[in-house]
Amino acid sequence: MSAPIPEVAERHEAFRARVLSRWGRWYSPWAHLLVPGAVGLGLIAAALALVHRPGAVVLSLAAAWTLALNGLEWFIHRNLLHRGRWAFYDRHTPEHHGFFQTDTMEIRSTREFAVVLIPGYALLTIFVGLAPIALGLGVINRNLGLLFYAISIAYVLAYEWLHLVYHLRPPTGGWPSWLEALRRHHAAHHDPSLMNDWNFNTTVPLWDWLAGTGRRREPSGVATPAAPEAKT
Ligand SMILES: [Zn+2]
Ligand SMILES: [Zn+2]
Repeated sequence: MSAPIPEVAERHEAFRARVLSRWGRWYSPWAHLLVPGAVGLGLIAAALALVHRPGAVVLSLAAAWTLALNGLEWFIHRNLLHRGRWAFYDRHTPEHHGFFQTDTMEIRSTREFAVVLIPGYALLTIFVGLAPIALGLGVINRNLGLLFYAISIAYVLAYEWLHLVYHLRPPTGGWPSWLEALRRHHAAHHDPSLMNDWNFNTTVPLWDWLAGTGRRREPSGVATPAAPEAKT
């Protein structure tokens, strides 16, 4: 890895300071992390507590929905966060990717949770917005509605927490190898030359593999395809 050019590093620092200045003293990183997390875990626990002896068909549908969520994560990240200037484009592509790049992935203080985590109001909106869909499915089959709700929220929280872990300083001895592999997948996505076309899964890169958008970034900075049918 070559040393950054001083002017580029200086501009990057100024950009980081500008982004962080948007969050005033009122911002509480721990509330941002813990409040939606606690609400989500409470909703998951409540939904799962009401599930009663789901049959094989319902469990199969629940598994299929989990896989579909992986595709939805890929689709939203690729098409809404990196293209088309939809809601959250600015927050994601210029801001999150401008703030953290492959070689500067680690947050320096908990205030930088603000630049990593999905806004709390958006998470709570997702939790509320999923409820009518779960209720509708619950009319067809109670267990199906409950599992849909629990799995959807669990997926969102898994996304949030894994993403945050990728942007933390690794502990002494490093992350477990499976987590380090996921972290590297996301770190490659933070290479500005790769971010718009590669590594859109932030959780498990299943859909990246299926779509041929999985790519490794070697320490030299040279990206190499990681999927059998990688895009050219
Ligand atoms: Zn990131
Ligand atoms: Zn991205």
